[in-house]
Amino acid sequence: MNSEPLRTPVLIVGGGMVGLTLAVELGSRGVGCMIVNDGADTAPHPQGNSLNSRTKEHYRRLGLGGEIRAAGLPRDHASDVVYVTRFTGWELARLPMPSTAEKLSEPEHTAQTPEPIHRANFFYIEPILKRRAEELDSVDVRFGHRLLSFEQDDGGVIAKIERTADGAERTVRCDWLVGCDGARSTVRKALGIGYGGKGGEDETFMRGRMLSTYVRAPALTGEMTCAPGWHYWTVNGDTRSSIATLDARGEYVALTRMPPGEDETTVDAASAFLACVGKDIPVEVLSVKSWMAGLALVADRYQDRRVLMAGDSVHLFTPTGGFGMNTGVDDVANLAWKLAGVVQGWAPPVLLDTYEAERRPIGIRNTTMSHQFASAVAGLEIPDDLEDDSNAGAAARAKIGAHLATFTEEFRSLGIQLGARYDGSPLVVADGTTAPEDSPFEYVPSAVPGGRAPHAWLDGGRALQDLYGPGFTLLNLSGEETGLPDTPVPLTQVLLDDAAVRELYGADFVLVRPDHHIAWRGNDMLEDFAAILARCCRH
Ligand SMILES: Cc1cc2nc3c(=O)[nH]c(=O)nc-3n(C[C@H](O)[C@H](O)[C@H](O)COP(=O)(O)OP(=O)(O)OC[C@H]3O[C@@H](n4cnc5c(N)ncnc54)[C@H](O)[C@@H]3O)c2cc1C
Repeated sequence: MNSEPLRTPVLIVGGGMVGLTLAVELGSRGVGCMIVNDGADTAPHPQGNSLNSRTKEHYRRLGLGGEIRAAGLPRDHASDVVYVTRFTGWELARLPMPSTAEKLSEPEHTAQTPEPIHRANFFYIEPILKRRAEELDSVDVRFGHRLLSFEQDDGGVIAKIERTADGAERTVRCDWLVGCDGARSTVRKALGIGYGGKGGEDETFMRGRMLSTYVRAPALTGEMTCAPGWHYWTVNGDTRSSIATLDARGEYVALTRMPPGEDETTVDAASAFLACVGKDIPVEVLSVKSWMAGLALVADRYQDRRVLMAGDSVHLFTPTGGFGMNTGVDDVANLAWKLAGVVQGWAPPVLLDTYEAERRPIGIRNTTMSHQFASAVAGLEIPDDLEDDSNAGAAARAKIGAHLATFTEEFRSLGIQLGARYDGSPLVVADGTTAPEDSPFEYVPSAVPGGRAPHAWLDGGRALQDLYGPGFTLLNLSGEETGLPDTPVPLTQVLLDDAAVRELYGADFVLVRPDHHIAWRGNDMLEDFAAILARCCRH
């Protein structure tokens, strides 16, 4: 073991979507950090497919919006959700969805956000994030390194890591350690922090143990009796599945139930996929993975003194709705600027206490909603004659198709995506106005302090959020420039003469946090502004 300890202000454990996003967040603010991940590279097996609008807004803020939008399916690829008995059987229902090209060209899709939801598997996105982290001077990226253990005291954290290739151990001294180490989190377990909520009862589809199969089957497109889509659900008496198109060249990820008594090493994944096709076609199984569906679990705490956690290490979702990674990315958008403030010395460590206070309620809100969506999917009853080529079969298909056509909830969750609020946080200055009701489906733009700063298009096709700085932004809608207090807090002023934005934001002055939530608004500016800014950093 090399006895010389490595030093870094922030040690990030875990290089999945959440840890990598945190590394990019910190690195883009010039905060020194090291990220360790036990795998030698990013995940080789496909994961989730939906980057929601809020996540895309964060990547846009980090300068990665375009690159990430280009990943995944081609822009004009079909995006419909299609329910079939089998790929070579009957189409039961279709939920029409706009393609990326349509989303970006039709104004209705960008009225609330410049970044409509994007479908691209995370295994295409992680390499983009890793590459960006590696480009940032203050980030030390160490894949192929595992956290073994850590200890903390008032002065910092001492962690032990090992290089997985040869078991060589190193000590890392850091001021803060952030566990982004997923469902089996070494960090959370070492802290003795448990999860509360609902566990995956082993009942039916999308509850309990599931199989994820990564397949290459280019012949499938030619065999499908339905028009192409993006996400297919096969529904029949033998098997049910959820299958997403990964690229336009014949790769898919299929989710089916893990047959009782089987595991990744014994299961016949090719046969399970062919049962969804309904015909023998050439299929190459590239990898398989088992996972647990039906979870809605949130850790009891997100922080223990100098150790914080984000992503799956503190909340586990069932995939319906596609909220797991997205909630994790929103966690680290909240955490990163606070860590930057503490490490760079413009905010006291107590600022970090607001991370759990603001984010844990969102973890509970989002896991609860996703579990409700899953219950609707799991509870579907399949009639015996569904695949009969008879009048009775046709009637059964029409009936179940009409029911499936109502399964739109998980695909219209803009309220969940954009409506997270930090009301009651010590960092938010309430102004006595009432926030819109929290709805999973509807997002009502509002500048009531605590919520996301609403989107607006400006002259020249610019998005308002693109004007906000990397630190705090004073959005000045008064028509006159105002002096800013002398402060170490990163603060920029955006002077905007726009009547529509003034109406939307409801005040002459609005203080927007680095994570683009509104901290304060008012018409009478500067007397109290220094105190308000200090409060928003917990000075
Ligand atoms: C089938 C399925 C579909 C999904 N679809 C979606 C979707 O559409 N949208 C969505 O938002 N979410 C979705 N999710 C959830 C999403 O995949 C997860 O929430 C997300 O990937 C979690 O990211 P993470 O970075 O927190 O954890 P992980 O991706 O698990 O990353 C943790 C990393 O830490 C590493 N690690 C663990 N222990 C150590 C250690 N001791 N030392 C070093 N490294 C360590 C691991 O190897 C791993 O690379 C889906 C999940 C499933 C199962």
